[in-house]
Amino acid sequence: MTALAAILKARIRANGPIRLADYMAECLLHPEHGYYTTREPFGSTGDFITAPEISQMFGELLGLCLAQSWLDQGAPQPFALVELGPGRGTLMADVLRATRGVPGFHAGMRLTLVEASPRLRALQARTLQGHAPIWLGAAQDLPDLPLFLLANEFFDALPIRQFQRTGPAWRERLVGLAGDVLGLGLGPVLPVAELADRLTDTAEGQIVETCPAADPIMAGIGRRIADRGGAALILDYGGWRSLGDTFQALRAHAPEDPFAAPGAADLTAHVDFAALADAASPAAYAYTTQGALLTALGIAQRSARLAQNLSGAALQSHLAATHRLTAPTEMGTLFKVLALHPARFPPPPGTA
Ligand code: SAH
Repeated sequence: MTALAAILKARIRANGPIRLADYMAECLLHPEHGYYTTREPFGSTGDFITAPEISQMFGELLGLCLAQSWLDQGAPQPFALVELGPGRGTLMADVLRATRGVPGFHAGMRLTLVEASPRLRALQARTLQGHAPIWLGAAQDLPDLPLFLLANEFFDALPIRQFQRTGPAWRERLVGLAGDVLGLGLGPVLPVAELADRLTDTAEGQIVETCPAADPIMAGIGRRIADRGGAALILDYGGWRSLGDTFQALRAHAPEDPFAAPGAADLTAHVDFAALADAASPAAYAYTTQGALLTALGIAQRSARLAQNLSGAALQSHLAATHRLTAPTEMGTLFKVLALHPARFPPPPGTA
């Protein structure tokens, strides 16, 4: 049993079942035993591989997309270049390298990273040496500046709640104990005001998920982009309106029971992009897939250019990475992109 399992079981024994969101938050970010606090999740030796760790092209193309958006909006100075949940800092390092040649972009930017894990902050500081980022613990504290923002696999790590439809009401799925085993049970039947619109598109017994922490984050980003200008590219797996149980645990690249070893496995849920877009109003938005965006931004040309200097195993792995990022059978359509922009300016290139 993990140390965190003992802590959570004691709490449930004393006070009763807890929300899934509270379980997820403790597992991921508990100050001593949380997954992101204690582990090195990324890469082939970790639990999962993210797009920026697959190829430098991902960050290069997204960086140039944001820089073009910045130019389209009259190159405002100063502006905040922001990443939510930068992991090892790989994506931002590629963005910064690719945008070096965009006149005025680096001079006017305030590089801002939103990261909860002190361990990952230290890693990001090493990767981004010389660029003087500032770190924020919460996206609500973003500066009141034009905002050019990236978030890759950030929202899937935010804690979710789950509700099961019961007639015209809902029962929340809560984490409790059966004997000594952690697992899900059902709370009392309650009306849930924020799910009123889900009564029209769900059937008896179906499960919907909400991500309470995402709403204030998106509201703050949407308001700044609508008022001050800017653009956001939010990439993750998920879809338009959540339906069904998508809560999952991944350890060493294999799925496992999310209640088996709290703090030891990565926990995620699919992102509901409709909810994110709603919460970001009055910012305008476009919605597409990762494959379509990278293709529109010229990944085929960039890949061919990089391939010229490669041979043998390095070339094979580069071609495999290109395929992995874009193919419909790989990340191309599973991963979606929500782009935010002010209604008075065009959406970021390639997103609409
Ligand atoms: N974007 C990176 C890493 C994704 S993992 C990549 O694509 O490789 C999720 C990241 O979000 C980690 O850096 C994690 O520490 C951070 N994170 C998770 N929950 C957070 C929260 N509530 N507030 C701030 N950062 C958080």
